[in-house]
Amino acid sequence: MNTMTDTAVLEHRVEADAGTDARSDAPTFRDELLAAGLLIDTGENGLYGRSQVFEDVIDRLNAAITHLGADQAPEFLRFPPAMRRTDFEDSEYLKSFPNLAGTIHSFCGNDSGHQRLLRCLDDAMDRSDDDRDDEWMAQQKPTRVVLTPAACYPVYPVIARRGPLPEAGRTIDVMSYCFRHEPSLDPARMQMFRQREYVRIGTPEQVMAFRQMWIERGSLLVSLLQLPVEVDLANDPFFGRGGKIVADSQRAQALKFELLIQVANPDGKTACLSFNYHMEHFGAIWKLECADGAVAHTGCVGFGMERITLALFRHHGLDVNAWPDDVRALLWGDTEARVARGLAGAGA
Ligand code: ZN
Repeated sequence: MNTMTDTAVLEHRVEADAGTDARSDAPTFRDELLAAGLLIDTGENGLYGRSQVFEDVIDRLNAAITHLGADQAPEFLRFPPAMRRTDFEDSEYLKSFPNLAGTIHSFCGNDSGHQRLLRCLDDAMDRSDDDRDDEWMAQQKPTRVVLTPAACYPVYPVIARRGPLPEAGRTIDVMSYCFRHEPSLDPARMQMFRQREYVRIGTPEQVMAFRQMWIERGSLLVSLLQLPVEVDLANDPFFGRGGKIVADSQRAQALKFELLIQVANPDGKTACLSFNYHMEHFGAIWKLECADGAVAHTGCVGFGMERITLALFRHHGLDVNAWPDDVRALLWGDTEARVARGLAGAGA
């Protein structure tokens, strides 16, 4: 059975290009972000530069999330935004989301291949940007690495190689740029974006308790940011004809929840955090073993860093200096103390 990856960690509820508002000529949220210089247009949908102000919000948000999870003593791991192709193949990502994956190719030919490549490139460049052919790509061969589809993917094989888990299981803190091939005008649906995650590997009880705790803590963070909190049952966007059945089963088993916030689309909400229980899916693939020899279960909470940041700009305005005092203090003031007070107050 194909089960759940957390690929739609940041999946969007609205399928249309939400950045465009066909009903009026009023500037869209995307237009406003670009005009304010917060995002920088690269000419490619879903691929943006970020300004210093935008990155500063990401950094401060990241710090708040660190405080939120500090008492769990997670192991800190960071990977570049790529993973071993064989690990990616094993993950079964292509079974569920072939349309979203990004592979990395490189020129692996000889001198004559290089000459062909350059001739094709010359021909291509005679055309306009959108009209270019990709003949030169025939010279490119797959490398042994692929782009990371979700921040937690590189974690499982690495932890599995260490052997059986300790009694308490493991909690990992990871963050990565992720890639999904879904070009869109909705600024909340980028092709490359960051996910901060806490990943839990252990017994079913450990993972379920972790997920429940993070639904509460994620909701706390969002309420401290004075954004509207709405947690909902969700499913990943499984590909193809069989996809609906898998998605229905994922919902029926309540394996995925999302925290939804209105971002770019006035009529829809965007998943900004997700809370995922993969059951034994990754444990079985990578042979993650509990201390007693049972197949480990896994789960993760994913924070969509760009999406939460965009939600802040959407709800509090494009000028960070004009954001509500408590939100500013949480991000740029006594972050640790405020998170601690929130945790104590929420009993979370
Ligand atoms: Zn994950």
